[in-house]
Amino acid sequence: MSENSTPSSPVRLDAIVVGAGFAGIYQLYSLRRIGLSARVLEAGDGVGGTWYWNRYPGARCDVESLDYSYSFSEELQQEWDWTERYAPQPEILRYINHVVDRFDLRRDIQLNARVTSAVYDEVSGLWTVTTGAGERFVAPYCIMATGCLSIPQAPQFPGLERFQGEWHHSANWPLDGVNFAGKRVGLIGTGSSGVQMTPEIAARAAHLTVFQRTANYSVPAQNEPITAEQLKEVKAHYGARRARALETHTGHFLIANDKSAMEVNDEERRKEFEFRWRGAGGGFRMLRAFNDLMVNKQSNEKAADFVRGKIRETVKDPATAELLCPKDDLPFGTKRLCVDSDYYQTFNRPNVSLVDVKADPLVEATPTGLRTRSGKDYPLDMIVFATGFDAMTGALKSIDVRGVGGVSLRDKWEHGPRTYLGLAVAGFPNMFILAGPGSPSVLSNMVHSIELHVDWLTQCLQDARTQGVQRIEALQSAEDEWVRHVNEVADRTLYPTANSWYMGSNMPGKPRVFMPYVAGVPAYRKIVTEVAAQGYRGFELA
Ligand code: NAP
Repeated sequence: MSENSTPSSPVRLDAIVVGAGFAGIYQLYSLRRIGLSARVLEAGDGVGGTWYWNRYPGARCDVESLDYSYSFSEELQQEWDWTERYAPQPEILRYINHVVDRFDLRRDIQLNARVTSAVYDEVSGLWTVTTGAGERFVAPYCIMATGCLSIPQAPQFPGLERFQGEWHHSANWPLDGVNFAGKRVGLIGTGSSGVQMTPEIAARAAHLTVFQRTANYSVPAQNEPITAEQLKEVKAHYGARRARALETHTGHFLIANDKSAMEVNDEERRKEFEFRWRGAGGGFRMLRAFNDLMVNKQSNEKAADFVRGKIRETVKDPATAELLCPKDDLPFGTKRLCVDSDYYQTFNRPNVSLVDVKADPLVEATPTGLRTRSGKDYPLDMIVFATGFDAMTGALKSIDVRGVGGVSLRDKWEHGPRTYLGLAVAGFPNMFILAGPGSPSVLSNMVHSIELHVDWLTQCLQDARTQGVQRIEALQSAEDEWVRHVNEVADRTLYPTANSWYMGSNMPGKPRVFMPYVAGVPAYRKIVTEVAAQGYRGFELA
């Protein structure tokens, strides 16, 4: 690192990037390409963002690695060999580190630098970004690459400090791993993280108790090794694969059936679901089985019933199977679909039990385990929290961000996030968010959506320089219109009908607002491309 901050002299740069995950890393690469100096400030002791922190057993991506990877460099995509269809976390972390070294990015990334505030000064037009250690960085541009799922939801059980065993959160997993051997483990949470961990812990622990509040839908990943022939074939036409991904709703190609679930007979419907579950390769393909699963309740119920049927077929104990079946108030796919390897099968093991904590909620930890409201005690040696995140807004609200007139982003977002295009916020000039709320982000292949945002923003900064523009700010009217549009599009779907972290409803007290943009990647790209082509419509350039 060339320069360090001292109290009297902050480090002066063209841009500060907060976060060294997929977004921050590619943003640094792109800023360098257009000749801007930048520093990435990263809270962790390593790069990788979500893939640095979430190292729990069984962690792997639920988007295929051949798609969930950078496309910006042909050399990179030709030289990297993924080993499995859905890469495990250690492999993704190795890939990210490879990218950082290959493009010599590490020298501009500062680790162990948790950003605590970002303050805009109207007179100088500069952002001052301060870390927990008091270091200061000053630049005209502040780019938030802080991720959508980076602030774990802290366990809120009284008495945890008295628990004599060990406890861990999926998103803050010990670097040197956890030993489950011979232990009675209690796992709280049955979202993507809990579902991935369940078979792994069950295979190693003496006993696993899964505490389930809401049964979610899980579809088998059908994960498998990638053969040398498959890699060769993909690499021979990688550009075409990426181009095809651009045209799909989620930014990664999944065969989509263009029929309604209600226009086919029972047999055809069952065949299609079966094909998605098994033949076509599992995972998110299930969401594309019919074109109206996420907008038509009747069609959605057909998918929900199919999954319930699979659960009943798989889980031998009928009472456990019923408990694992998602209820009618959770339409299929409206809470992030889980993608698993042997999740439901794991409940057939003699050392695994499932506890319904909707009926009898967990209320406290005791020195020896967990206790429910009715006073039932579960003796445990270890508690694992897979209880999720303060999603989409948590990371930004954890920083004291101040825009024009000292207005705080926390205050501005008190009733939910407000952005223009998920990229910018009125009153916060020259601050940009990558894959922010109001963009497709978590409803898409994140790496694809990150590349789209970084490319758009890099071009915007380059245009600003060519045109002598120093201040880029979203107009209030454009932001209002965008927020209205994001909600209107969401309201046409079933998504807002469920309690999910997309809606903020996984956290007590969080505003209930649907946060991602659900219209899909091609529609979104068309809009941001037009905005740029029309001289950055909706932004004030000064
Ligand atoms: P999550 O989906 O928010 O799930 C949290 C789970 O904890 C829910 O089952 C929730 O129950 C439960 N919970 C929370 N507080 C509880 C309490 N007090 N008592 C009992 N249960 C409680 O979190 P996550 O599993 O970490 O996943 C978050 C997101 O990260 C995913 O949706 C996905 O986007 C991403 N992710 C992706 C992958 C992947 O690529 N494969 C893996 C992991 C995570 P309720 O449902 O009742 O609230």
